[in-house]
Amino acid sequence: MVRKIFLVPHPVLRIKARPVEKITKKTLRILQDMAETMYANNGVGLAAPQIGIPERLITVDTGDGLLSLINPVLVATSGQERDVEGCLSIPGQSGYVTRAARVIVEGLDPGGRRKKIEAEGLLARALQHEIDHLDGILFTDHLKDGEEAK
Ligand code: ZN
Repeated sequence: MVRKIFLVPHPVLRIKARPVEKITKKTLRILQDMAETMYANNGVGLAAPQIGIPERLITVDTGDGLLSLINPVLVATSGQERDVEGCLSIPGQSGYVTRAARVIVEGLDPGGRRKKIEAEGLLARALQHEIDHLDGILFTDHLKDGEEAK
């Protein structure tokens, strides 16, 4: 089911999301809805707080298939890359954000299996953006004065 996307300045976007302690049918339902909502809005990533659920769940698809992660953690980063970013919760705004060029992210897949994802480029950026959401951080927090692209 495609869910409503919560927009700034809704407070759910600013709280630290809680870890998922047990993967239940409800967790899987939320991940399914997140994927549908992400695709319906032509997004490359979505975090659960964006549909009003303060739990540590993200979905990402940068063109290589759907990645759904539970309790994702950024365990290593290297390099720096600056590129333009937007957010489904901040319509009409984009800006250049400097992020790590390469990341290693660990988390659980929907089957509860431990996953380790090594990523670079857009996937690395999307993972960092979505994990930020779980800590109440928005891409606009990374912009310096005068860096808004439009
Ligand atoms: Zn976002």
